[in-house]
Amino acid sequence: MPELPEVETIRGGLEKKIVGLSIKNIEVLSPKSFIGDPELILNQKIVAVKRRAKILIIDLEGDLSLIFHLKMSGQVIYEGKGRFIGGHPTKDMFSELPNKHTRITFNLSGGSKIYFNDQRRFGWVKVVADEKVKEEVQKMFGKLGPEPLEKDFSLKAFKTNLLRHKTMAIKVAILDQAVIAGVGNIYACEALFLAGIDPQTRVKDLTDLQIKKLSDSIITVLELGIKHGGSTITKFVNAEGERGSYLDFASVYNREGKPCKNCGTEIRKIKLGGRGTYFCPNCQK
Ligand SMILES: [Zn+2]
Repeated sequence: MPELPEVETIRGGLEKKIVGLSIKNIEVLSPKSFIGDPELILNQKIVAVKRRAKILIIDLEGDLSLIFHLKMSGQVIYEGKGRFIGGHPTKDMFSELPNKHTRITFNLSGGSKIYFNDQRRFGWVKVVADEKVKEEVQKMFGKLGPEPLEKDFSLKAFKTNLLRHKTMAIKVAILDQAVIAGVGNIYACEALFLAGIDPQTRVKDLTDLQIKKLSDSIITVLELGIKHGGSTITKFVNAEGERGSYLDFASVYNREGKPCKNCGTEIRKIKLGGRGTYFCPNCQK
């Protein structure tokens, strides 16, 4: 699954290309990949491209939206003036489209197209009433905590949610989507390093200042991820079809045994809640 910065990067790329265009025709090549009645959205103008957690949302005029869940192997490819790709990279994504992994083709006004490709067919696109979008996303992830990159993100709500997991290791707690939305393994490790917090620390042992620092650090690493087009290790490419390069800037993730960029101590890897966790035992207390 892509992490938040990858989906945000795709969103931003698509927004520049498709807002104002309308959907002229939809070819559903794999019925499993499209949920809803395609007829309902024909000739509708695209008014916005949004994101909630790791879900991409194309908002149409009228009261319907299209939601995209990329899952393991989904790709969203825009073809018009150039080709822009977001999602799991494959060799065939630069070749002629549609290809054998194309599940849906959206033909847009002006002749451009959006392809939804998905090798493993776990992903899907669904027609949803605008007022049901929130509910749909909740069905997928459970109740979602605050969005770290939204203007109304509240430290208070984050802290309240965290304190429901008093005895949990902080690293495991921030991966809970009900605590904060959209933070995956890479960004959880990086945010804890930036905040100088040992990932094994129990939530109840954190000071208010540490929680504030952690909240700021989550925002900083996600923004840095978007700036660099996401992370390479998740094999997601950005809307320009370039591999993300965030991991070139990662301080701890996937750097076991390498010297800490801050103090030179060897980065350690442990398992917490079943997930690989990287940290500097000297910088993170
Ligand atoms: Zn260090």
